[in-house]
Amino acid sequence: MDNAATTKPCAECVKAVNEAMENGFGNASSLHGLGGSSNSMIARARKTLLAAVTSTNKPFDGSVLFTSGATESNNTALLGSLHRFRPHGKKIVSTAIEHPSVAKTLTLFEEDGLNVVRLAPKDCDDFVEALVNEVDENTALLSAMAVNNETGFKIDVPRLYKEVKQKNPRTIVHIDAVQGFLKVPLDGDLISVSGHKIHSTKGIGALFIKNGERILPLLSGGGQQGGLRSGTEPVELIAGFEAAVRAYSGCEEHFNKLKTRLLDGLSRLEDIGINSGADCVPNIVNFSVRGVRSETMLHSLEEDEIYVSSGSACSKGKKSDVLPAFGISDKDIDCAVRVSFCAENTEDDVDALCNKIAKTITRIRR
Ligand code: PLP
Repeated sequence: MDNAATTKPCAECVKAVNEAMENGFGNASSLHGLGGSSNSMIARARKTLLAAVTSTNKPFDGSVLFTSGATESNNTALLGSLHRFRPHGKKIVSTAIEHPSVAKTLTLFEEDGLNVVRLAPKDCDDFVEALVNEVDENTALLSAMAVNNETGFKIDVPRLYKEVKQKNPRTIVHIDAVQGFLKVPLDGDLISVSGHKIHSTKGIGALFIKNGERILPLLSGGGQQGGLRSGTEPVELIAGFEAAVRAYSGCEEHFNKLKTRLLDGLSRLEDIGINSGADCVPNIVNFSVRGVRSETMLHSLEEDEIYVSSGSACSKGKKSDVLPAFGISDKDIDCAVRVSFCAENTEDDVDALCNKIAKTITRIRR
């Protein structure tokens, strides 16, 4: 139950990776047939991804750049478009809940003299409206995540994109859609996604680039991917990514069932704070078991092979910088647990989790 950290590659992905390794391993830049079939594989994957990212029935109006994951996609989006937004504005609008791959890059921009405004959900009744209100004629870039990885807080991305563009068509809109891809409607000029969060492998991600948007490459070299990311394309990982996207089926109803069962189970325990509100996706639930530190709870659950997370997995147990922006107290942050579901999780899993939490509380609070 730690699927926001990473997911198990699905059978379709494993099969596609194996097949590509055995039969489709050619270099996509080679002029012979084996290279040609890798090239065709990559073109097919691009089509599949473009059809999957859109919020409408039409494919995304743009192109797909394959990357090593969303950390690279986010860095490429922000650093790669810097040359574009520098000339027409010194203001960047973002949020206080971004993943470090966005947050730290924005800090670099601040050190370079740009003005970065970071809004916190706790200060805004309507978060999209607040972000749009910050956009002015001087705003070169807006970067916001579709779904927060720690609480599941989601924003209406198509509305945000439309309203920002109405206010200033020159503002570049970047969306970190890692936790929202295939789950919520998306739009943007630049959209980052990651394979390992949707049952593909680690080491593959993508940046969607809307037609008309231009970025500079971070990696120079052989000129692959239209010169935007040099380096031989990892055709095996791309094949796995494509297969995982194709195989992904919407499970919102299933997630809703699991979330309801979890909240029900937690409501029977004493002194629990729920940190994920109604405006959150159903597959991520963050809560605090007061009096039991996150790490103690994690290790206790682990005894029964129940895997959850304290903050985001990438912060390695470090106290969350993001939860305060949701108005969660330091005391509750010390005891925060994040549960994140995938389609394979069952109601029995949720019951086992709640039972073990109850036992841990009894043991620790005694
Ligand atoms: N953005 C968000 C919201 C994430 O949750 C993560 C990973 O947890 C990333 C970016 C980084 O993705 P990757 O592991 O593919 O570099």
